Amino acid sequence: MTVETKVWGDGYIQVKIPLPFSLKWVNSYLIPEEGGGYTLIDPGLHTDEALQSWDEAFLNHGITIEQIKRIIVTHQHPDHYGLAGHFQDRTGAPVYISERSHGYTRRLWGESSTYSEELRAHFAIHGMPDELTLAIKNNLDGFVRQVSPQPDVTYLNPGDTIRLGGYEWQMIDAPGHAFGQLCFYEPSLEYMICGDQVLPHITPNIAFNPGEEEDPLGCFLGSLDELYAYKVKLAFPGHREPFDDFAGRIVEIKQHHERRLQKMWEMLREPSSAFELCEHLFGGHLRTNPHNLRFAMSETVAHLHYLEKRGKVIRTGTADTVMFRTVE
Ligand SMILES: [Zn+2]
Repeated sequence: MTVETKVWGDGYIQVKIPLPFSLKWVNSYLIPEEGGGYTLIDPGLHTDEALQSWDEAFLNHGITIEQIKRIIVTHQHPDHYGLAGHFQDRTGAPVYISERSHGYTRRLWGESSTYSEELRAHFAIHGMPDELTLAIKNNLDGFVRQVSPQPDVTYLNPGDTIRLGGYEWQMIDAPGHAFGQLCFYEPSLEYMICGDQVLPHITPNIAFNPGEEEDPLGCFLGSLDELYAYKVKLAFPGHREPFDDFAGRIVEIKQHHERRLQKMWEMLREPSSAFELCEHLFGGHLRTNPHNLRFAMSETVAHLHYLEKRGKVIRTGTADTVMFRTVE
């Protein structure tokens, strides 16, 4: 195995840390600091393969682990946050994350977490068969070891600035994909570190999760409108490659959701559960891939909530078996 790295302007090192699912890798970034050493952004999921990749990346770039002075996590998803505690244990470096993101790490992976059971019940009332809700619960429970040990954290506040690589970066609240996610913008370089909020080639997953914000897609589209106003020369995303047409990509992602919403509205002339709709949209083959099925189902429900809140669809059926249909 050979880890792929690339050096960008100002010596920023992109490290592609492998992931055991279809996304293939998460981008970690090493930002050289004024006083020596590096800030590490989004260290990746805690797997043996990821650790081997880090060893190799450090070796290739002549970096020692002691040079990691600080760790920043853009958002709470395990593929970004998972290794933060491990690196903190090895380096003593502080780990920075927003308070809201940190709250979700405790809700998902805290000792008394009931989240995977809550998600299972939620998918069941939306029509998903038991064997699939169980497969999803087991898959989700498997992430606990991939985010352990969990770090002690210091909070970052959206609206504040943070000094990074010798520049002052604005921290922007970027909800919808992950509530609490921060984007980092530097106006003289026109660089945007955008986490998973704007990704090239793939659309960020927008999930409704039980007990969270009711309209994640509405929040996400609002955030995209806000981000559109920033002048960006180079965007550093959490997946795929850094890219230059930030505004153009925002327009494409918005169009994708508009098309998806229109299609669902048309499909729901025939009343349907979220699960039936999910299978029509994403395909029955996801039954064998609980990880991707969870993303697809949560995304379907997020779109249904969006349509429901705007009076485009209504719920029918019962509280135990929710169905939706179009309002003409
Ligand atoms: Zn994410």
